[in-house]
Amino acid sequence: MTQTITVSCKLEVPPNIAPEIDKTLEKFADACNHILDTALMENVTNTTKLHHLIYKDVRGATGLKANHVCQAIRRVVGNLKATYRIKQFRPTSISLDARTFKYEEENQIVGVTLISGRKKFNLSIGNYQRGLLKGHIPTSATLVKRKNGDYYIQIAVNIPTQPPSHTPRTIGVDLGRRSIAATSTEKTWNGDKLNQTRDRYSRVRANVQSKRTKSSKRLLRRLSGRERRFQSWLNHNIAKELVTEAKNTNSALAFEDLKGIRQSLNKKPRSRKERRKTNNWAFYQLRQYVIYKAAIAGVEVVFVPPAYTSQTCAVCHHVHPEKGKSYRSGERFKCGNCSWSHNADVNASFVISQLSGVYVNHPEISGIVCQLEGQLSLFPMNYA
Ligand SMILES: [Zn+2]
Repeated sequence: MTQTITVSCKLEVPPNIAPEIDKTLEKFADACNHILDTALMENVTNTTKLHHLIYKDVRGATGLKANHVCQAIRRVVGNLKATYRIKQFRPTSISLDARTFKYEEENQIVGVTLISGRKKFNLSIGNYQRGLLKGHIPTSATLVKRKNGDYYIQIAVNIPTQPPSHTPRTIGVDLGRRSIAATSTEKTWNGDKLNQTRDRYSRVRANVQSKRTKSSKRLLRRLSGRERRFQSWLNHNIAKELVTEAKNTNSALAFEDLKGIRQSLNKKPRSRKERRKTNNWAFYQLRQYVIYKAAIAGVEVVFVPPAYTSQTCAVCHHVHPEKGKSYRSGERFKCGNCSWSHNADVNASFVISQLSGVYVNHPEISGIVCQLEGQLSLFPMNYA
């Protein structure tokens, strides 16, 4: 069994060559957009038919090489097969194949065919990436321009699926959405009992608060104490189970970054009921318990950036292309690209686990690539 991974390598691009790359990226995006328009207009989603229909026009109009156009058609067809389609391709990446890309292990360079012809680039990589690429003759890659203007080439390499034994497994833990916690080993802790309790307390509290007598104040204090103790007891138990499982399976535990979680939870206006469920000290406490118990048990705890973890497909890493929309619907996640469907919190925990796995085991890999768009959709570490 092998799995395709992408090895992300920074390209050393001389300043005078950068405009040539940019022009190639622009023409590739133009090509994709034109092909998409035509496919929709003519109602054609078949690669061969689309090729016959449009190949010559696109080559003439853009000046791209033959295989650039073939790749543009492939990318558009992939997009058309998705339930939710990208409406506009941006000039940030180009798909390359064996004719337009070559990795030369001996000199650690790549040859890339640009609109103006073949150019060679030095790779700015470390031993780890060299190790991943060693002995491979990769036949596909994606050239990406990042927001900060750096160019990267993501080289697709098939590697054995069994990870080396010295690398730790990671268990991803998603907190505070539908469930209190959900893990990538498919355990969930249902929030129903907790939420019922909280709702009951907050109803009573609302009642009492309107009275403002001395005895009602005392009752209020007692209520909050009882609520807190209940939560605390629950968190202790969840933390204990998480750490025990991690210890028994020799895994690290991975959470979303706390600072980020507050931001991501606070982004959208939420109902008061929902805010009560997520926006408080309870999840902070659970994490603190886990950190504490993990330290004693010798279990590693890893934090990953929370961006898109709940909205990304754990299988193909696609994110809903339309702003504000999500493949998440209540308890279910259903990917519009590959049709993967699963419990939404567990899907998020898979993504957290994968991200942390990359972070722990492959620090040189800078992100996880969306299979549809060929662009980095998730980053194990924050970078500017
Ligand atoms: Zn998917």
